[in-house]
Amino acid sequence: MAKKCRQCGLVNWEYDEVCQRCSASLNPATPPVYKWFVVYCILMALLYITTAVMGIVFMFAEPDREMSETEAKIMGAVFLLLGLGFFVPYALAPFLPRKSWVWVFGLVLICIGLSSACCLPVCIPLLIYWLKPEMKAFYGRNLNPLPPPPPQWN
Ligand SMILES: [Zn+2]
Repeated sequence: MAKKCRQCGLVNWEYDEVCQRCSASLNPATPPVYKWFVVYCILMALLYITTAVMGIVFMFAEPDREMSETEAKIMGAVFLLLGLGFFVPYALAPFLPRKSWVWVFGLVLICIGLSSACCLPVCIPLLIYWLKPEMKAFYGRNLNPLPPPPPQWN
């Protein structure tokens, strides 16, 4: 796959780290939206760990009058499992490498947020930026594969 130089426009080979003509770095810069994605993941991880803690509280606290002990335990267990189940991917996401599948993983994490109304104002702009070509390039996804680059630099 070809890498186009952002500085001079020269199409370089995939394995080139720097541009053959102007020596600019060919690795895409971190898009500004990436740090918002990290913030989003941290907030979601906190939200789900809180859910898990609430689950533990439900399981061990005195059950409500309207709820039997078994019901409280089941509810607690569901909260705990859901909380932990969602906490792990959100907590891991900021540490994942810049790989093509990680872009898909991030997309799934943003879409999970879309399912809750309170996250919509955050998730919609995040999703729009996530789908932009810069973000895909950052994760090494090639959207429009260029033909093999001709050696233009000689
Ligand atoms: Zn260049």
